[in-house]
Amino acid sequence: MNDLTRRDFIQSTAIAAATGAIASRASASTQAAPKLTHPVVVASGNGMAATQKAADMIAAGADTLDAVIAGVNIVEKDPDDMSVGYGGLPNEDGIVELDSCVMHGPTCRAGSVAALRNIKTPSRVAQLVMERTDHVMIVGEGALRFARAHGFEEVNLLTDKARRHWLKWKEDHSKKDDWLGAPDAPDADNKGARADSEPMFTYGTINCCGLSPTGEVSGVTTTSGLSYKIPGRVGDSPIIGAGLFVDRTVGAAGSTGRGEAVIKSCGAHTVVEAMRHGMSPTEACLHGLKRIVDTTTELRLLDEKGRPKFDVKFYAVSIDGRHGGAALWSDAHYAVNTDGKNRREPCAHLFQRPPKKG
Ligand code: ASP
Repeated sequence: MNDLTRRDFIQSTAIAAATGAIASRASASTQAAPKLTHPVVVASGNGMAATQKAADMIAAGADTLDAVIAGVNIVEKDPDDMSVGYGGLPNEDGIVELDSCVMHGPTCRAGSVAALRNIKTPSRVAQLVMERTDHVMIVGEGALRFARAHGFEEVNLLTDKARRHWLKWKEDHSKKDDWLGAPDAPDADNKGARADSEPMFTYGTINCCGLSPTGEVSGVTTTSGLSYKIPGRVGDSPIIGAGLFVDRTVGAAGSTGRGEAVIKSCGAHTVVEAMRHGMSPTEACLHGLKRIVDTTTELRLLDEKGRPKFDVKFYAVSIDGRHGGAALWSDAHYAVNTDGKNRREPCAHLFQRPPKKG
């Protein structure tokens, strides 16, 4: 098959598959599928600038993956966002390690980097892994060497502000680290999930998924991961099927929050599969969260009512343009650009946060 014929074949297969998926979902869904006139872009709550940028680019005819990556690049390069890219909080040793993955719906391709140091935009490196290698995932030193080979500028990602946060954590000799004692140690079960007990900035990530009016969909997730993590720790964000999953016939989903829980439940894949079987994006996100609740058994991660002490959020867009977000705990939001407008939407939730004391 020459290139042109292969492309035509892929395209017509995609259209046939998409049509079939929309037809079967429409009968299972309570909402009628809207006819799209504008892009639909969803992102985590910190992604307002990303959804705007990506929607503008898709509306101007850009590829959906190029658009969502350009969107998250704004946050990756922002030194004031301490959860993503440059300025992100470092690992235990004071070194920033970044994770990211991308999926391009139209071609069913994916790329990923994990524990990448010194490069401000890991999402761009993940895109190059997809485009310029026969691999899906490159980690650590290999990822840095790959980025170097592609001419990425190397910088110290640790800003002074992030260094001061890390130093305080180190000086406090906090028990809130990731090391667990031996099971027979006297206070082995004494540790909580850090997400619940650290004041702020412990978790944080940006996920962004974009759908074009012609039904092409792509996504990206990028993060500095869990702050003060054990060096080399990899979260859900660069794992295809955990922090991000895109299916060109169904839609896309991504996550933020405690990556360990999302990895164990194949989070984003679970959400996309739920949409495939007829759930709306919001229902599918809640379904993914219930799976996490059902599979979290460690007492140290549960409160007195057996609910996870940590938070996870899922965001999703279906191929027919519906969107949704859900969090384990109430009061969360996601960013969305639809009908040419950028706004924040409340996430559905499983558990109501207790009122703040004082
Ligand atoms: N999911 C990310 C991780 O576990 C962190 C986050 O989303 O806040 O690395």
